[in-house]
Amino acid sequence: MRLIKKLFDKITYKNVSWFTVPMVCLGIFLLPAGIMMYLTWMSLLGAAILIAAIALSWSKWRCPHCGSMLGRSLEVPKHCHWCGKKLDGK
Ligand SMILES: [Zn+2]
Repeated sequence: MRLIKKLFDKITYKNVSWFTVPMVCLGIFLLPAGIMMYLTWMSLLGAAILIAAIALSWSKWRCPHCGSMLGRSLEVPKHCHWCGKKLDGK
């Protein structure tokens, strides 16, 4: 669990899309594939990955200054829409 915590702490608004985008792709693929192949574990895994990706982006895709959500774009905006402070994209 400590390793997961360490990894979780390394994820910031700058790199969270590197985790969530592949997770969403995998979940979107596994969920219907599991249903079509009557593999309950596969669709459940797909659903779990999707939920994890949503939870991850919900907790990490935030402005470091004011904590507001950064919107639907996958790229880090140059400035926060809410507090106007500069965001460091790379
Ligand atoms: Zn902000």
